[in-house]
Amino acid sequence: MEKLKLGISSCLLGHKVRYDGGHKYDAWLVETLGQYVDYVPVCPEAGCGMSIPREALRLVGTKDDYRLITVKTGIDYTDQMLEFSYETLKRLESEQLCGYVFKSKSPSSGMERVKVYPPHGGAAGKTGVGIWAREFMRAYPLLPVEEEGRLHDPVLRENFIERIFIMQRWWDMVNSKPRAGDLVKFHTIHKYLIMAHSPQHYREMGKLVAAIRDLPFKQVLMNYLELLMTACKRAATPSKNHNVLLHILGYFKNELDHFEKQELIRLIDQYKDGMIPLIVPVTLINHYVNKYNKAYLGDQVYLNPHPMELKLRNHA
Ligand code: SF4
Repeated sequence: MEKLKLGISSCLLGHKVRYDGGHKYDAWLVETLGQYVDYVPVCPEAGCGMSIPREALRLVGTKDDYRLITVKTGIDYTDQMLEFSYETLKRLESEQLCGYVFKSKSPSSGMERVKVYPPHGGAAGKTGVGIWAREFMRAYPLLPVEEEGRLHDPVLRENFIERIFIMQRWWDMVNSKPRAGDLVKFHTIHKYLIMAHSPQHYREMGKLVAAIRDLPFKQVLMNYLELLMTACKRAATPSKNHNVLLHILGYFKNELDHFEKQELIRLIDQYKDGMIPLIVPVTLINHYVNKYNKAYLGDQVYLNPHPMELKLRNHA
């Protein structure tokens, strides 16, 4: 599999671009995820012409209207940052990014809960978004985005990684000059993955695909991607995974004997009750998929959504 492209705040890769001349190297992002990803680093502060080191910045204003200002000297860098954002977004268009990892808390790169200071003093509220991060997310509202800190949470991490690999498969399809049948195939192999996140969206997407000839194909693709990414942003809870696993179990009604079925059901229930990780029933199912040559299930992304070496389904 080719490496996918992910935008990232440069300092997370260890680049010494921070205001104090330091970095914020993130070992998991670089050494583990980095094996599957080509990073496209962006440091908006250095990129928009500020020096390294430089005076620290912060957001100043109200919840809905704030500026990027240096802490001591009060220089306003907002317009410079917006100009940089505009140019960089144009440059990134051809990269076909599958997502972006932002550095938390930064007035330029923070994705959420960045401090905004009232202009005339007083306590800061964590209501802002870094100026570059805000412009990026406005330009790419469907792309998966996360912050390095949130990726320490195993549930958020798996959700993000799953979505960036979905985006990679999406770009692969889009780049292959797809026809209606290619979208139908894409939808088919993602069936159980989507159902694990949102059965409701899966039904809506099914209707869209069934009426594929009613709209211009480009429009169908855009509508489909919007539903897909909205669906997969929702958490794949143990209860939704449980339903999907039981559905999949139904494909083995003729092959498994009573004991094997009971054993698999026991594992699926134990997963739902938080006693074992998802990887346990999924591994046994994959074993049966291979043993009984179930091609339809073998194609299901749900059973292998991302490289096993990332160990994303190993938490209970
Ligand atoms: S947080 Fe963003 S602006 Fe600050 S050093 Fe890192 S990449 Fe540069």
